[in-house]
Amino acid sequence: MIALESAELFCLLQPEEIAALRQVVDERTFQVGQEVFREGEPGDGAYVVKAGRVDISGQVNPDTRKVFSSIGPGELFGEMAVLEQLPRSACATAAQPTTVYFLPRAEMVSLIERSPVLAAALLRLISRRLREFNQHYLHEVVQAERLAAVGRFARSIVHDLKNPLNIISLTADMFCKPEAPADLRAAAQGRIQKQVGRINDLITDILQFSQADPGTARVPVSYAEFIASLTVELAPELEAISVRLAGAPTAPATILNLDVKRLRRVFHNLVLNATEAMPSSGTITLRFRQDAREVVTEIADTGPGIAPEMAEKLFQPFATHGKNHGSGLGLSICKKIVEDHGGRIWGRNDPAGGAVFAFALPLPTA
Ligand code: ADP
Repeated sequence: MIALESAELFCLLQPEEIAALRQVVDERTFQVGQEVFREGEPGDGAYVVKAGRVDISGQVNPDTRKVFSSIGPGELFGEMAVLEQLPRSACATAAQPTTVYFLPRAEMVSLIERSPVLAAALLRLISRRLREFNQHYLHEVVQAERLAAVGRFARSIVHDLKNPLNIISLTADMFCKPEAPADLRAAAQGRIQKQVGRINDLITDILQFSQADPGTARVPVSYAEFIASLTVELAPELEAISVRLAGAPTAPATILNLDVKRLRRVFHNLVLNATEAMPSSGTITLRFRQDAREVVTEIADTGPGIAPEMAEKLFQPFATHGKNHGSGLGLSICKKIVEDHGGRIWGRNDPAGGAVFAFALPLPTA
């Protein structure tokens, strides 16, 4: 229970002002759930909670009311409609058995006019509430944006999974019956396997995308040896699609702290993108340079280059362009892995033609 002279604003008043206030203030009690005032009612006065608690709420939509602040003993509420001379913009409801001091509008206004100390304190109070409201609002916006991102993520995955699943289902219905000719069944089997492969790739991408960096898997590795083993691994795949790999042997023999498994994924994604950009044939050139701080690796191709539509969003999750079945996750996975290594990644078009993707990995600190 809070005495009038101890309330957050009135504690600033002189004893004679408090005595005058007592003459005009009247006490009101409310049961739990009872409204002190509701939206649209005239702002006939301000309230201070003597005991109990009052929730201030607003109608968010026809079915939902949201409590945006809770007022406890000694705190003022209902002052805004009084100051603005406008109807109440929110509803005040007793959240506990509550007693309030009610100060009629005319007395409240004359008190403010008479007491600059009170006016300044009121300004501070309103400014603090605005700040709290802004923070609360910002938090809500961030939460809503997170939820929306999860929604977009889920929609995109569902969409990408539905397509191959439909193809599998149709193919199984039409061509896998015992009476279907053997050649059609064999073709159907191939088609189903291809779609299962697509689903598998997508799931691998999503797992990679959501994988947290344990940080513990990074070990000192000779970059030259890492690149040598990687090119041995990539060569047969590239040969099969008439893509030539050039420039591999020149990687620096510097020791870097690498999560080999994840960094291999960066190369696979970048090389895969390059080969997809050169469907008939072409050349991928690996280039390296090192300075006092980092080793930069460039993967250049002889494809058509990065489409202008992608320029601003290359590394954004789900950004894809010009591919039938692109998940749009490949480059964002590369970015995450490189950044987990303390590095940076970028892409550009070579004026002479083709795209160049490059990433920098930091040298280990002494
Ligand atoms: P996805 O390959 O699934 O579309 P990525 O994140 O790997 O997703 O790539 C995003 C987009 O960037 C691709 O759809 C493509 O338009 C563009 N891109 C990536 N690599 C290249 C490249 N080497 N040449 C041209 N465009 C590229």
